[in-house]
Amino acid sequence: MLGLSELPTCPGLFCGSRARDGILSRMRIPGGILNVQQCGAIANLVDRYSNGYLQVTNRANLQIRNLNSAISPEVWHNLQKLGLASHCVEIDPIRNIMASPTAGIDRQQLLDTRPLVKAWDNYLQTHPELAELSPKFSVGFEGGESVAIDTFRNDILLTAVQSADSEIVFLLHFNGDSTGIIIKQSECIAVLAALANTYLEYSKNQPRIEEKKPRLRHLLADLGVENYLERVQQNLPFLGQITSCTFLKNRQDTCSTNSKFDCGVGILPAHSISEKPIEHYQHLGIHPQQQSGFSYIGIALTLGRLKSQQLRDLANLAQNFGRGILRLTPWQNLLISDIPNHRIYELEKSIAHLGLHSSATNLDSCLVACAGSSGCASAITDTQSDALTMVKDLAQKLKIDRPINIHFSGCQKFCAQHNPIDITLVGIQISQGNKTIAGYDIYAGKTDSPFGRLIFHAVILAEISNSIAQMLRVYQRFRAPDESFGVFIDRLSIYKLQQLLIQENPN
Ligand code: SF4
Repeated sequence: MLGLSELPTCPGLFCGSRARDGILSRMRIPGGILNVQQCGAIANLVDRYSNGYLQVTNRANLQIRNLNSAISPEVWHNLQKLGLASHCVEIDPIRNIMASPTAGIDRQQLLDTRPLVKAWDNYLQTHPELAELSPKFSVGFEGGESVAIDTFRNDILLTAVQSADSEIVFLLHFNGDSTGIIIKQSECIAVLAALANTYLEYSKNQPRIEEKKPRLRHLLADLGVENYLERVQQNLPFLGQITSCTFLKNRQDTCSTNSKFDCGVGILPAHSISEKPIEHYQHLGIHPQQQSGFSYIGIALTLGRLKSQQLRDLANLAQNFGRGILRLTPWQNLLISDIPNHRIYELEKSIAHLGLHSSATNLDSCLVACAGSSGCASAITDTQSDALTMVKDLAQKLKIDRPINIHFSGCQKFCAQHNPIDITLVGIQISQGNKTIAGYDIYAGKTDSPFGRLIFHAVILAEISNSIAQMLRVYQRFRAPDESFGVFIDRLSIYKLQQLLIQENPN
């Protein structure tokens, strides 16, 4: 483990990073999947070395704040034995491998991506040289599940699609954009390895950017996709057939009916990532699995927080009711899978006894906040505490009947959520006479990247819940049946919206 003076900015388990509230450590949990023994070891670790709390992150990692002493060699050894700590310490800070939390159990999936997650993790574990890449290097796999992860940022995302001759193949995406390149399942790891190694060669010859290693997006901006793939091809001869495909501009092109690539591979449109309905937090609550007679239950965690004892208890429930597996999600909550249908309501009651619930329509179910001033030097506001206060006030004012995603960002960097969502609050300093106080600009909807459209400017903390309640009441009164908050907001002009808001609250 590094000494405190050498702590990096991107934390791993072996190399925590310094946050305002102490040392922050992050465990890579590939695909977010944990078994009972792993949960017990994590809970013990948190009790022994921290304050008894954990947080699920937006890459389905587990984060431990406030580490108070060095972890003993026996504990490291045990964590490695359980598959929680990497055997290759060097790659520890590299970003977690992302996959749908319903991989292997989703009724819409084209294939189970869990073996690929495991295979890519094995590759990383046995190639310490990749530690030279930016620690933000990220890879995701999507198997066509209804709980899709394509809205999360990944440098490289492979999404399963069905070819015209019914073969399940993967489409290669860089930073969310389809390249139009198709990869066979059996070639995925070799292609990823070649992509990573070509990026590594590039990275070694580049100067640091603001003292940081170049990201894959820097490489793409510098070389362009085609040049990058030509270099990759030198390490991977079979890629020759697919780089000769037309480079399609966007996903719609890739997935249009009867589309045929120049290389002769057709893709059926039914499972394209652009056409799947994206519902907020659709995985919360009870859902039937692909495996007949079994269901999973999605459990909400406010701001991703979990007490160590809750983790132990949830793992025990997973063991008693299912197959002992918890699945962390990048929406900062978790699932228990493989529950026989006749026992699912009994499990729901047991979850309630732990002080948890599975409803997506509690105001705190879809609440997101970045680290804020307790953990981040760039923060203007204490997002975590402000979010909790706001949601408590808001719950006194109204109830909701559809999930509403509310995101608190402590500055314009927007780390915790990368796409515009229902309501985004961005921390600012507000001038009041000769002093400044912390407050928020409030944005809503999905048009106008990155935050949506500005609805309220410079709102002081005490007024935030009133402003949000005003928007939600207007939505509840004037929406079309089944219209989501985001769609409602985006279909109104700002002028019309302001009129309705004034009508709702003339003062
Ligand atoms: S959004 Fe800003 S304040 Fe929040 S964690 Fe990122 S850099 Fe820090």
